[in-house]
Amino acid sequence: MLTTQEQLKYSRQIMIKKIGEQGQVALRNAKVLIVGVGGLGNPVSLYLAAAGVGTLYLADGDTIELSNLPRQIQFNEQDINQNKADIAAEKLNSQFPDSDIEAIDEMLDRELCDYYLPQVDLVLDCSDNIQTRYLINQACVAHKVPLVIGAATGFDGQQLVVDPRDESSACYHCLFPSSEKPPANNCQTLGILGPVLAIIAGMQALQAIKLLTGNSTEHDAQINQLNLYDGLSNQWQQFTMKKQQNCTVCGGKS
Ligand SMILES: [Zn+2]
Repeated sequence: MLTTQEQLKYSRQIMIKKIGEQGQVALRNAKVLIVGVGGLGNPVSLYLAAAGVGTLYLADGDTIELSNLPRQIQFNEQDINQNKADIAAEKLNSQFPDSDIEAIDEMLDRELCDYYLPQVDLVLDCSDNIQTRYLINQACVAHKVPLVIGAATGFDGQQLVVDPRDESSACYHCLFPSSEKPPANNCQTLGILGPVLAIIAGMQALQAIKLLTGNSTEHDAQINQLNLYDGLSNQWQQFTMKKQQNCTVCGGKS
């Protein structure tokens, strides 16, 4: 049950029939891990805390740099050289006292995944490197935890959901087998614009809310769908992904 104060605060979400009080309680009870607290993790964590997600774990080993500020909107010049997860958690805890925000001030490794994944309902991959992306995908498949992946460079973004609870769900490795040469380009070599990150982060936060409130299967355009965004032409494109039976991460089980 929600308190009277919570009913008032979240009334505009609760009045959406597919969310309702039940959905709001589910958000309050949810535990979510956000990996990477940069250009995507900043808006994702803000939107999820604001929506009433009860527990957020923020993982990032990086420190804040001057060149982060045009897009990492929780940070300012006084925060430079401090850890991203620590600063974001401090600010979110102050802005959203109903939520419990915990910082993990180091890069996620397999050991940390094995510790945190059994405790959480959902993981958001907001990282900016391919090694972390493969690691999180593998760990989420192993622990059967749903994963919302986002990435962006230049004017372009991509977003997809992997839900290992569903045997038919393709994983990130099905899409990009790691034997292929990993893309060498990232936002350090190609640049990035804040609003492109905001669009992809908004999609990630929306997918997360749908998964947490039980709205994922009904409208199911979530698993096996690669969403690509082109910020120059304002176009989204959807591609259907297929689970690869020979995938070394998720294959051979269905
Ligand atoms: Zn796979």
